[in-house]
Amino acid sequence: MRLLIVEDEVRLASTLADLLHRQGYTTDICHDGLTGLDNARSGIYDLVILDAMLPGLDGFSLLQQLRSEGSPIPVLMLTARSDVADRVRGLDSGADYYLTKPFDAQELLACVRLLLRRSGSESRTDDAILCGDLRLEPGSFLLSCGQRSVRLSRREYDLLELLMRNSKIILTKEQILLKVWGYDSDAEDNNAEVYISFLRRKLAHLHSTVKIKTIRLVGYCLEVEQ
Ligand code: CA
Repeated sequence: MRLLIVEDEVRLASTLADLLHRQGYTTDICHDGLTGLDNARSGIYDLVILDAMLPGLDGFSLLQQLRSEGSPIPVLMLTARSDVADRVRGLDSGADYYLTKPFDAQELLACVRLLLRRSGSESRTDDAILCGDLRLEPGSFLLSCGQRSVRLSRREYDLLELLMRNSKIILTKEQILLKVWGYDSDAEDNNAEVYISFLRRKLAHLHSTVKIKTIRLVGYCLEVEQ
């Protein structure tokens, strides 16, 4: 799960990122509205946490623009102001939920889970992700198969989570790079290959029947061997 945080208060943005990170989410941060809009359009995020008052382009306008382009991405709006007119404006702009600062961390996490669940992104992050004989735990990055288990690095976890959540689909290297390394990163095709080989080694160590199959010139997908 990749979340975009658009928040100009630098400290709050990084606190949010830390909080979400600990729950197994990957996050990117933008500190102004125009960059935020640009990133939100990329299609690589599962949810946007959007501050109302932003430099460049305010959160309401950003959201209206995004919705007018047909983006269905779940948006959780944050604002310092608690008056009703503002809340109405936020919801009218197309926000899925609205929180007033200061908000409680647990409430924010509950909203994020709710919105992801509602959008069908299967975001029960407390629940393990299952595929074949594999079980992947979001909180601890623990990958297990029967009695054996290994702990994954952050990148390995993000990559395997992506493959497991899309186990019926072939993912291209471009999709993998965007989802796992992000929009602004300098990662190259090579990075995906390197991490795929790390994961293959771990799957072999676990004696899993799940294999990462290479589809030549296209990408990768998971395959459960019979
Ligand atoms: Ca602000």
